[in-house]
Amino acid sequence: MGPPGAGKGTLAKRLIAKYHIPHISTGDMFRDAIKAGTELGKTAKDYMARGDLVPDEVTIGIVKERLALDDCSHGYLLDGFPRTLKQAEALKALTESLKRTVNLVINVTADEAELVKRISGRRVCKNCGTPFHVTNMPPKKEGVCDNCGGPLFQRPDDNEAALKVRLSNYYASTKPLLSYYEAMNVLSNVDGMLGTDKVLELASQLIEA
Ligand code: AMP
Repeated sequence: MGPPGAGKGTLAKRLIAKYHIPHISTGDMFRDAIKAGTELGKTAKDYMARGDLVPDEVTIGIVKERLALDDCSHGYLLDGFPRTLKQAEALKALTESLKRTVNLVINVTADEAELVKRISGRRVCKNCGTPFHVTNMPPKKEGVCDNCGGPLFQRPDDNEAALKVRLSNYYASTKPLLSYYEAMNVLSNVDGMLGTDKVLELASQLIEA
């Protein structure tokens, strides 16, 4: 969990490389659907461009389908889901029906001024989704992904107007989930201002505890 720009995606990519579990990013799933021109992509596109949340029933549906796949049977990392109380309740019911639980929620925190800087400088690989930043985490070769050689681009929702909407949705719908998970005794905070290596180290300690 964490506001846009806190570093959830960067941390998630590093954790899955380390722990070899599926990375389930609802944002990536929507972006892939838009790229492929599917019905899901057509539904999600306008919400995403505005910075709005895609409706719960659509989002819950894709996560339900994804968690039912075999590769999730030994655990998985959710990134960007849940973002509303309805999604959190659906996840609880879903994990219970699979005889599992949500056993760790990592909340990555960051100052709001830093979020704006990170989002405006973010560049993402068109092929593999690896995130970079023009000054904080530049690729070795400008405009080219270090991971797969794909072209880097700026996400259409990484603009000032959409970020405003994304932040207000975060505060109104997603931030309240922190107390929901705190009450379940599964929430841990990691300071996202500490730099990507330290954030990975702290998150790894939580996973291995
Ligand atoms: P992200 O890549 O996690 O920043 O997500 C990008 C955009 O995808 C969000 O601003 C939403 O429009 C949409 N999205 C991703 N995850 C969700 C979710 N759990 N619920 C609703 N919309 C989502």
